[in-house]
Amino acid sequence: MTNAAHPFDALMDITARPEVVFVRGAGSYLWDANRNRYLDFVQGWAVNPLGHSPVIVADALAAQARRLLTPSPAFYNEQSLKLAKALVDNSCFDQVFFANSGAEANEGAIKLARKFGAKYKNGAHEIITFEGGFHGRTLATMSASGKRAFEPLFEPKVSGFRKARLNDIVSVRQLINSSTVAVMLEQIQGEAGVWPASDAFLQELRALTQQRGLLLIVDEIQTGMGRTGKLFGYEHAGIEPDIMTLGKGIGGGVPLAALLATEHASCFDHGDQGGTFNGNPLMCAAGLVVLDQISQPDFLKSVVDTGLLLERELQRLSARHGLGEIRGRGLLLALDLKMPIGAAVVAEAFAAGVLVNSPQPDTLRFMPALNVTREEISLMIDCLDTVLTKVGAARRVA
Ligand SMILES: *Cc1c(COP(=O)(O)O)cnc(C)c1O
Repeated sequence: MTNAAHPFDALMDITARPEVVFVRGAGSYLWDANRNRYLDFVQGWAVNPLGHSPVIVADALAAQARRLLTPSPAFYNEQSLKLAKALVDNSCFDQVFFANSGAEANEGAIKLARKFGAKYKNGAHEIITFEGGFHGRTLATMSASGKRAFEPLFEPKVSGFRKARLNDIVSVRQLINSSTVAVMLEQIQGEAGVWPASDAFLQELRALTQQRGLLLIVDEIQTGMGRTGKLFGYEHAGIEPDIMTLGKGIGGGVPLAALLATEHASCFDHGDQGGTFNGNPLMCAAGLVVLDQISQPDFLKSVVDTGLLLERELQRLSARHGLGEIRGRGLLLALDLKMPIGAAVVAEAFAAGVLVNSPQPDTLRFMPALNVTREEISLMIDCLDTVLTKVGAARRVA
């Protein structure tokens, strides 16, 4: 540990990473320092809706960097005003607070719900979240998450989160008491392995929360910004939540996130919420060009079409290898491997120059650029076909 000769040693060892260094990206491709090229279906963990280093984002950043970086969060800037207006115009929400990460946006949502409880509901502060849910890695968002592996960590957790079961409205109803202020969920549980909340469940949840005077918070950090084929995932169910968080894709690859609320729920007072870099014009300039591109009807239609193509191809692959179901929507899809071979498949695909992700040992997740091409999809499928044959054969021998 004292010998820092190895180039990787100066970074905290917080996860297992392949020993390559990425130096360049363009569209669906990444290159490492040895000039190896990789076809990327991870895309920075679903953060690059327009692929790697899109020219329009690079140009917007460069132009804004020369104009103004940070005037201070205590002053208005043009880009955050424009982006807030564009988000409000394209959603059912009335106001926006910008953040720098998804977890920070969710912290804001949790604080806003507690503020709402303090102001209007006798100090009600409990938030019902879901088993399998993932909301980030700050202390409160880990506490809100329903991820098993988080349970023993960093005790004591932030209190006030009760876990219901996804798509089980009775399990939600049973947890409501006079301290409850909100229900918070992902439209599709991404990190848990791409488990969708059904449209019917979201509709029941909206009706129930409305009836009981509770806020409905949707964490659309992974499902928002066109990922499911609509600009925001809640649109599929035809509901209007009270609070939404966005992250990942909203910046087109740079750290930007947002907390959105309806007029009814937007109740912060001065001093409740803030942050030095929040709403800085540099990140908002990127967000503006990304939203402008993604919100085009043609763009969203192409996400739907490409998503259906990827789904069909995965179904055929699954049938060929005797694997399980395909889950998800748009370009957030998972393949059930039915066996704990996810890590082996990811490693073999990596060696063959294709990046895919395994959020659970028996699941592969696909979150390509939203403008991924048909050719790139067939290259990825061909690679997985070979890899699955190899990993399957190895399993039969072992
Ligand atoms: C990634 C993610 C987060 C956390 O976002 P960070 O930017 O990593 O803090 C929260 N919720 C969901 C649904 C996510 O997918």
